[in-house]
Formats: sequence, C-alpha cells, structure tokens
Amino acid sequence: MKTNARAVVIGGGAIGVSVAYHLAKYGWGSDVVLLEKHELTSGSTWMAAGNVSFFHSSFYGTQVNMKSIEIFKQLEKETGQNTGWHTTGSIRTADNKNRMDELGYFYSMSKCLGLDVDWVTPEKMKELHPLMNTEGLLGGLYWPDDGDVDPNSLTQALAMGARKYGAELNLHTMVTGIDKLPSGEWLVKTDKGDITCEHVINAAGLWAPEVAKMVGLEIPSIAISHTHILYEKINAVDERDTFLPLVRDPDRSIYLRQEMDSLILGMYEKFGQQWKPKGVPWDYAQTEINPDIDNIADNIEHGMYRFPVLGDTGFKHVTAGPITYTPNGDPLVGPAAPLKNFYHACGYSFGITQSGGIGHFLAGWIMNGEPEIDLWDMDSRRYGSHANWAYNHEKIADTYPRLYSIIYPNEWRDAARPNRTSPIFEYQKAANASFGDYFGWECPNYFAPEGEDTHETPSWRRNNSFDNVKAECKHVMEKVGLLDLTRFAKTRISGPGAEAWLNNLTCQKVPTKDGALALSPCLDPDGMFKTDMTVSRTAKNDYFCVTASVGKKHDQHWMVQNLPEDGSVVMEDLTYKMGCLILAGPKSREVLAKASYDDVSNESFKFSTTKEIYVGRVKCRVNRMNYVGELGFEIFHPMEQQISLYNQLMAVGAEFDLKMFGMYAMDSMRLEKGYLAWKCEMNRHHHPLETNVGWTVKWDKEFIGKAALLKKKEAGITQKLACMVVEATDSDPYGYNGIYKDGERVGITSAGGYGHRVDKSIALGYVAPELAVPGTKLEVEILGRMRAAEVVAMPLYDPKNEKMKA
Ligand SMILES: Cc1cc2nc3c(=O)[nH]c(=O)nc-3n(C[C@H](O)[C@H](O)[C@H](O)COP(=O)(O)OP(=O)(O)OC[C@H]3O[C@@H](n4cnc5c(N)ncnc54)[C@H](O)[C@@H]3O)c2cc1C
Repeated sequence: MKTNARAVVIGGGAIGVSVAYHLAKYGWGSDVVLLEKHELTSGSTWMAAGNVSFFHSSFYGTQVNMKSIEIFKQLEKETGQNTGWHTTGSIRTADNKNRMDELGYFYSMSKCLGLDVDWVTPEKMKELHPLMNTEGLLGGLYWPDDGDVDPNSLTQALAMGARKYGAELNLHTMVTGIDKLPSGEWLVKTDKGDITCEHVINAAGLWAPEVAKMVGLEIPSIAISHTHILYEKINAVDERDTFLPLVRDPDRSIYLRQEMDSLILGMYEKFGQQWKPKGVPWDYAQTEINPDIDNIADNIEHGMYRFPVLGDTGFKHVTAGPITYTPNGDPLVGPAAPLKNFYHACGYSFGITQSGGIGHFLAGWIMNGEPEIDLWDMDSRRYGSHANWAYNHEKIADTYPRLYSIIYPNEWRDAARPNRTSPIFEYQKAANASFGDYFGWECPNYFAPEGEDTHETPSWRRNNSFDNVKAECKHVMEKVGLLDLTRFAKTRISGPGAEAWLNNLTCQKVPTKDGALALSPCLDPDGMFKTDMTVSRTAKNDYFCVTASVGKKHDQHWMVQNLPEDGSVVMEDLTYKMGCLILAGPKSREVLAKASYDDVSNESFKFSTTKEIYVGRVKCRVNRMNYVGELGFEIFHPMEQQISLYNQLMAVGAEFDLKMFGMYAMDSMRLEKGYLAWKCEMNRHHHPLETNVGWTVKWDKEFIGKAALLKKKEAGITQKLACMVVEATDSDPYGYNGIYKDGERVGITSAGGYGHRVDKSIALGYVAPELAVPGTKLEVEILGRMRAAEVVAMPLYDPKNEKMKA
C-alpha cells in the first residue's frame, strides 16, 4: 500500500468507488487511493434494489441523476464490465389533486432540463403495465429512459475503471484514525499502515458518522431499516419479452419493478426503524437484517391492491437492509466545515442512483475548487450545529415514513421543533405566529388573526396564509412592522489586515469611513456568486458582516479558509450573541425616535449607514437598511436584552399601530423590490453583471473572481435577470418554472410569489438580454400550465427608492 497520495477515499461502496474512479480518470490517476475495510460493496450497496431514476425533487439533484445515467450507460464500453443496466421506463402515479400539482411542478422543472418526461392517463399506464390496477388514479408522469442497474456489478465496473486510470484500491484495510499534520496534510491511519495525503473523502456510508468523529465532526446521518420483497415467479412477467416499467405509487408508499421473471415490491414503512442508532458496528458487512413484517403489512396490502397478481404469489425473499438517512433525506456532500481539504460524500438514501453523478461532480469540486453545478441542496454545510445526533434521531423518525409524501414549498413539519428560538419566541407565539423552521431557528412566517388556527395548509397553490400575508405587507407599507431576523449570520472581522482582506473577498469596495455600510456580493474564483454580505464599518479595521442565516456554515467556512495565517485578520462569530429585529414602514423612524436616546433623524442617520445607539436600555448596532424596501432599520442587539428591546419598541410603537410581520411578507416585498436572494438569483450559475447589482463591482481594485468576471464582461453576457408580471390565478411562480416565448423555452425562474403591495403575481428569472426588456411578452409554466407573463421594469415597487431614503 502506498504511503503518500493526493486523495484518499474512505469506503468502497458505490459512492466511494465512483469518487475514486472520477478523480483518477480526470487526472489524479495513481495519486488516488481507496481504502475499504472489507470487500467492495460491504455496506448499503450490497443490499440495494438498484432502481435508477431521473426523478429528484430539486433542479440540481435531477442533474446529478442525469449524469449518473449517462455514466452508467457508457461504463461497460469503457471497462468491459457489465453493469446490469436495463432501460425500463418508470411511472409515478397520482391519486389526488395535490399530488397532481406536485407532479406538475416536477414536469415543468424536468422540461427545463430537456428531460424526456410526459403525462400519462390511467389508461396509458395500464397499457404500459398490464398488471396494474389503475383504479382511483388521476394520472401520472412517465420517464421512458429510467431503468435499473445491478449495484454490485456497477461498483465493480467503477472499480475496474478506477484501476484502469491508476487508482490503488486497498481492500480489507480499515481506517482507524485521521490526524492533521503540521504541514496541513492528513495522516490517514489504517490497520495496514499510514498514508499521508492532501485530500480525504469520507464515503464510509453507514459508518460515515464514525469516520467524521475521527476529525472531530458530528454529522446528521443515521441508518434506517428498509425493506423490499422479491416474489416467486409470475408467469405473466416471465412470458413478456419487454421489461415492465418501474411504478412508484407514492400515495401508497410503494414501488414495484420487474426482477427477472418476477417483481420486487419496495416500501417506505409505516415507522422508520433506526438500526444501531448509536453507531453501526465496525464488523458489520454484507448481512441482511431481520425484516419487521408487522411494520410492512400495510404496504404489502397496498401492493396487492395496485398489482393484484401479488395477492396470488408467494414471497421468494424479504430483504431488509440499512440505508443512511439525513434529516431531509438528501446526502451530505462537499467540503466539511470547518476543515480544509476534507470532504463528505455520505448520507445517501438513493446512493446507487446518485453514485455516477456525485462521483463526477465531487471529483470536479475537489480538483477545481468549485462544483460544476450548484450542489447546495446536498451540501453538508446546509446543516448547522443544531443538526446533531439527537436532532437527526427525531427528524428521521418523521422523514422516513413520509419519504413519498407530497413535497410542498410551504410545509413545516413538527419533528425536532422548536429547536433554536429567539428570546421573544413566547411573545411571537402569543401573537398567533405560524412558524417556519430555518436552519433550526423558529421564525414566524406570518401571524394569523387572534383566535384563528396557526396551522398553514401545505399547498402548491395560494393557501390560508395568503390574506394574512397581504394584510402584513399592507400594514408595513402604510404604517410600521417588526420582523425578527435574529437568525442572521453575524461575523465580526477585525485586525490590522481586516480592510484589505475583506476588500479581496468582495467585489464591492469595503467602506472606508466609520458608520458606512455596503452591500457586498462575494464571488468565487470563476466570478460567480459565492455569497452576499452587508458589511458595516464600525471602526478602523473593524467590520460587522451580516449574511443569510442558512448560509452561516458555508460562508464562515469560506472565510476561515481564506484567513491569512499571520493572524492579521481575526474572525469572531456573533450569531448567537446578537439578535436582530427589523423595524420597517413609514412610521419606523417615529417609533425608533421615541424609543431611542439618540438622534435618528434623516440628517444625522442617513440611508445606508450604521450607528451604535441606545434603544431603550439596550445598546444596539443599527443599520439604516432593510430587505423590504420601506423606511427601516435593522436593530442588532445583545441576545440577552432582546425582550427588553422588544417590550420597549412595542410600548412606544402602540400609538403607531406597530405590529409584527413574518418571513412570507418579507419574501413578497423583496420580490417587488427586485432584491436578490442567495441560492435563488445568486448562485454558482450567475454573476453580478447579469443582475441589478452589477454596480457593486468595483473594477479599480483586486478581488476574488475579478479576472474571470472581466472575461465574461468582455465576452458579453448571455443571460439577464428579468422581473415578470404573471397572469396567475391561484398559484404563483415558485422558482425553476420554465419561461417560454412562442412555445420555445427561453429561460428559467429563480423565484416567484405574490407581490401584495403592487397586487401582482411576480416571477424573477434569467433570460437572454434581448428578452429582459420591459414589454416583452413571455409565458411562465406553473404546475404544468402556461401562464401569460410580461417583463416589467425592475423594481416594481418604489423604483426611485424614495421610501427607503425618506
Ligand atoms: C434494501 C435497500 C434497497 C435500496 N434500494 C436502492 C435503490 O433502488 N436505488 C438507490 O439508488 N439506492 C438504493 N438503496 C440505497 C443505496 O444502497 C445506498 O444509498 C448506497 O449504497 C450508499 O452507498 P455508499 O457507498 O455511500 O455507502 P455503503 O454502501 O454503505 O459503503 C460504505 C463502505 O465504506 C466502508 N467503510 C466504512 N468505514 C470504513 C473504514 N473505517 N475504513 C475502510 N472502509 C470503511 C464499508 O465497509 C462500506 O463498504 C437501497 C438500500 C437498501 C438497504
């Protein structure tokens, strides 16, 4: 075994071998070593059914699956090893209107990726799958190119490919510890000797949490027992000369596919049963676990209902095996914060399907520093420190049985909540808040009228929150509202090198005067959006930076990785020390003036500046800035004084009718103002010059991504952010809707919703620059239906910013 390598991959399941194969193939060749404690496929991979689908709930997740299928189809030619790939097609059924809406969402999104997918009627389903009882079905989607693969053959083919390109695969070699060396390299210790390397990839599947512990990390991944049943020979299947399509009946929590002369029924059981919740034993390998027949009895009945032939057929084998699950069922991929050159590729519940794509994209990410596509949905940093073992334990018990439940854009499930709360949480509850869960924080989405149920009805259409959100937006527009954004990520950057360092981090010029603040997008080396900060200069070489709460771990990891080693820049995380309440609306200054001992007049507290002032008894850092486009103030304060501050503001605000408002109103108002949102308009696929924040790019200084951005500028931009007003009736655009002109797809939305102050349905999206011109007539596809849309000047609301600057 080698003692030095560029990359060490831990784990010889489908994922680890695919990562090793791609790293070797893309150029690291013999500098890649894979370590497997047993034989290849000794974890979940050994038990998998091997169903492979283009379907994924997210736009980028779908692209991972697309890449996988492309790879699977050519692997045999490249390696000589058959993967057992069959193209069978697959059907996803719907037996209710909400499910049809959900399928409509997937249909529109899939079309944006050029996928071959179409609606099928119950009659057509019966034609495609004659053994199916289509009673009660309203319709479904059909992907003709879906299929299945043999997980073991696939992994062996990837292994042959990896070896072909020079990678060393060491079986029966167990990783026992990992140390960081003073050189910055990793020392991976095994029972066969040690390896020094630059990059480590944790692809240890069921054991990934244990491997993470070796470097001091806790990751939210737990093993759940998953069952599928192989039936005895079925003549009607045996006699066919074409493959039956795989059928997923999500409303009955089952899937069914052909296996040789019979069928396999798979299921998401009534109760998610955790297997070895405190850690999978190291010596477990290639062993089935005892199925719990009581737990699958309902699913078996559902199977017999949808496929009556199963009622006359005996079981040949019942397989139960452990699958890893994360709180939302998506894997944990990419850089492992706060470490350098350590990556996760674990937490997979559909790891056969995703193995090819994730091997490709992660290898590129490791080798080039940035992923080819935005993988935020799978990024391990989407979970903060709140997502510990106990949290995951509760979340998964809820997630697993509902794996096939309808995905709504506005469903806030109760498991593992409340977790993180603002000090004023009880006051928000008393005011009848309907809460959402953002990065573990409870945050009011809207406030229901007194006496009304706060439960929001999940839906792809306008729901019971609509009128309440409208009332909140109107109230903020006419009077004054208070929004809790305590969850903002807050970082203090100080030290003699602070200004120069920050200037390199953002394309914006860092404020040079105390009390100035600047919207400061940050780019990656390719010139694309990395993150977005508000930077306030509090003193010379002392800055207060605010970023999105959900991006906290991502952003701070990126900052840490860029810190100079000489100690000239100091980073302090203030997120949990400081809360933030936003006061917004035409009366906000009057409220603040009454509560504050300091002068907050327009003359002494100008728009886009920051001040340290007393609000009541509380010394606060106040930014005259906000995300809703009204006169307003972001009031940062010591967490322990939030209740005091809140009471003071509400007391003096009573005469101005100060009321709390929630996230949904904020989202509605930001759309009207054309304010960009991280991971919607601002992601790996866009840069400032395509948007309305091109003015933040300061070409007369150096910054990360400048050279690449300059090239894009010189080449001319190919897409531009547009604001569209959509003729929607009861469902507004939501993001990843196709944008069409004369029947041709010309773009995709980044976000959408209803703008209550302007009373219009709004979509933001990227189209060719010549189409991003006010007056251009387009169509936006919502839940599978085309809706007329027109490009309008951005922003729709208060275009001269007179309200903000009032
Ligand atoms: C019953 C069942 C049905 C399934 N059906 C499907 C399906 O139809 N489609 C689909 O896409 N997915 C399916 N899955 C899920 C799929 O099997 C997993 O998502 C996938 O196999 C995960 O692969 P992996 O490489 O991440 O992990 P694993 O397969 O668990 O591999 C991890 C490897 O790491 C090794 N390892 C761990 N620790 C160390 C260490 N310290 N040193 C060295 N080596 C180590 C282990 O020995 C193991 O070989 C199914 C799973 C089950 C159980």
